[in-house]
Amino acid sequence: MTRHFNFCAGPAAMPIAVLDRACNEMKDYRECGLSVMEMSHRSSEFMAIAEQAEKDLRELLEIPENYRVLFTQGGASLQFSAVPYNLLGQGGTANFLDTGIWSRKAIDEAQRLFGAAHVAASSQAGGYQSLPRQEDIVLSEDAAYLHYTSNETIGGLEFDYIPHAVRPDGSEVPLVCDMSSNILSGPLDVSRFGVIYAGAQKNIGPAGLVVVIVRDDLLNQACAGMPSLLGYQALAKGGSMVNTPATYSWYLAGLVFQWLKNEVGGLDAMEAINARKAEKLYSAIDKSRLYANPVALANRSRMNVPFVLTDERLDSLFLQEAEAAGLLNLKGHRSVGGMRASIYNAVSEQAVDALISFMADFEQRRG
Ligand SMILES: *Cc1c(COP(=O)(O)O)cnc(C)c1O
Repeated sequence: MTRHFNFCAGPAAMPIAVLDRACNEMKDYRECGLSVMEMSHRSSEFMAIAEQAEKDLRELLEIPENYRVLFTQGGASLQFSAVPYNLLGQGGTANFLDTGIWSRKAIDEAQRLFGAAHVAASSQAGGYQSLPRQEDIVLSEDAAYLHYTSNETIGGLEFDYIPHAVRPDGSEVPLVCDMSSNILSGPLDVSRFGVIYAGAQKNIGPAGLVVVIVRDDLLNQACAGMPSLLGYQALAKGGSMVNTPATYSWYLAGLVFQWLKNEVGGLDAMEAINARKAEKLYSAIDKSRLYANPVALANRSRMNVPFVLTDERLDSLFLQEAEAAGLLNLKGHRSVGGMRASIYNAVSEQAVDALISFMADFEQRRG
């Protein structure tokens, strides 16, 4: 059996140690005589798995006591609806930073459901190749919260600061962040946020699970008449088991948290590795004549590295040869073309090294 290097943007590579452990426990989980995916979510075994996962995530991100952690479903995209439903019950307008395709989807959904969405800053005019700075952000007078996307997975841009969410009158509103593609890539000050959400399939585990971290005081701001399964209050009260949760994905997420804690050595260590991987890859791109990345230096993502070939006639040959060399899923998003290497937590430094040497070799032969 050969494992190739997988640069997929999502569902993304999993740590091999996690796959090994899941494999060992697959048919008979700790002498229970059945697999985790066949267990009742109310069994003591699964309850222990669920509790341990939350405990480990809390420890990794140092989540304060006054935050609830929800393990829910529907993808990050369902949170584009859930967030306004949960936070606009007392009126006001959802505010957004418009930074690319994912933030646009969140804006469009709030607009569709509530008839209004205020764009507090946008990088559209510059073709989404840089991110707004704090001084560019102007909230509406009636802002209920500010939503932003900390890492634009398709454009390859990542905030290097946490925005302040302050109305023109100086009052602060909750900050909401779609952290789907960079959560757990390094340490985080959770106390700066009202709501953090992330689809699992990039840095947490397999698809089918969404992690929501929500501050206690925001649990009672929901709109009357919203779909009950989207309610943070109900999910928090029911221990994320209002209906059947994505049990196997939850279990695998728990194994990823343990891998981060015990094998990587925590989020400071993870951040150092991620910084090294990204630095190497961008530097190889910048030094070459064949490859280019258009993103402003300060805003380059450490997780998703899009690049184009300056001679785009070589695109398909590049992808074909990369695949033959065991480097998978380098094709850029269908909306932007070119290439994209997603180098999430589980993509090893060895994988990045292999990509860099393939790129150099390809440029020498074909460039
Ligand atoms: C992948 C992604 C999403 C969408 O996730 P789904 O689980 O497919 O709904 C949303 N936001 C960001 C930033 C993403 O990377």
